[in-house]
Amino acid sequence: MKVLVVNAGSSSLKYTLIESSSDETAASGIVERIALDASVHKGEGRGGKFSKNVDAPDHNAALKIVADSLVHPDEGGIDSLDEIGAVGHRVVHGGEAFKESVVITSEVKDTIRSLFSLAPLHNPPNLMGIEACEKLFNVPNVAVFDTAFHSTIPPHAFTYPLPYELYEKDHVRRYGFHGTSHRYVSRKAVEMLGRGPAGTRIVTCHVGNGVSITAVKDGLSVDTSMGFTPLEGVMMGTRCGSIDPAIPLFLAGSKGMAPADVDKMLNKKSGILGLSGVGSSDFRDLVQAVDAGDARARLSFDVYCYRIKLYVGMYAAAMGGIDAVVFTAGIGENAARFRSSVCDGLDFLGVVIDEAANSGGKGDRNIAAGSVAVFVIATREDHVIVEETANLVGHA
Ligand code: ADP
Repeated sequence: MKVLVVNAGSSSLKYTLIESSSDETAASGIVERIALDASVHKGEGRGGKFSKNVDAPDHNAALKIVADSLVHPDEGGIDSLDEIGAVGHRVVHGGEAFKESVVITSEVKDTIRSLFSLAPLHNPPNLMGIEACEKLFNVPNVAVFDTAFHSTIPPHAFTYPLPYELYEKDHVRRYGFHGTSHRYVSRKAVEMLGRGPAGTRIVTCHVGNGVSITAVKDGLSVDTSMGFTPLEGVMMGTRCGSIDPAIPLFLAGSKGMAPADVDKMLNKKSGILGLSGVGSSDFRDLVQAVDAGDARARLSFDVYCYRIKLYVGMYAAAMGGIDAVVFTAGIGENAARFRSSVCDGLDFLGVVIDEAANSGGKGDRNIAAGSVAVFVIATREDHVIVEETANLVGHA
């Protein structure tokens, strides 16, 4: 069965059409700048890559563009939309309601809507994507939640030491994100360790533009660095990660900043972009500036790696030891120097990298020279969404 994977953001709609039995991608792409000027559709189909200007005033229009493109002789990968058996949606926030993927019904949509206040930037466009698909395709829709894998985190790890009513009434707690990726790479790591999940202690580092670290024990998430929102945890491309919670109060109080401006500073203007001064949140630009001898870029690189190293140590403590560290996503999969820097000095835990394997190898691999496995694993979030969708819809 062919499954269309849809990831609808506030101004973009990403899609991939995958054959579930063979795991092959038939077409993929993104419509960007939805509801803005100069919308653009970039993609890849049987005729190769393409990019063109389109008119996408809303998500319905963007999805119609995608549907037409899927059956286009060059841009697409199928001859008729009837070949699509189901649609799998990435939904960011499942709150405490969704512990696993579900077939979408009107009750499911109501619950996703009730979670808007927890994910105001993500769940509303996710739901728009779902409703656009319901209108256009007469097939089952499945929701796969970013938070679901973390539903096994125990209360002592998800509870913030705030007045308890904030949890009871307003659901303020750690949720965690990137769950689809952490689930995929931790399962793959268990496979590569060559034993079942029982007794395994794995730290998974998803390091892309967004970054989160997860402690996976016995195959289950037991703690993760992102929290109530994706802002908590380590330093990221444009997010600061964890800081003294009094700093936003200082910005709003002594500096007189409006809450929306504080939000923008911490989420969009901090991290690599804010600290390094290289004018970019892209890790490759940071490394280039480090190589050119830029001191602030060097400091940013060091802060970035140091904060991730701390989580490896913290989670080894949380799980009573560690059997594997996993690096995944854009930076985790590609930046050998980053991996060396994170693992440097962790030999006391048994984490030691083989430098030749780290910088030379390709594909999913173990780059360890010590007793703890260090895996580089390519994350495949779309493929997990296809698998979950096919399983729930009942076709392989
Ligand atoms: P997203 O979180 O948007 O899915 P990705 O997982 O694609 O992001 O990661 C994007 C990050 O990966 C960028 O900072 C980019 O610089 C970095 N990256 C991609 N390729 C490389 C590479 N070869 N070396 C170092 N960094 C890389």
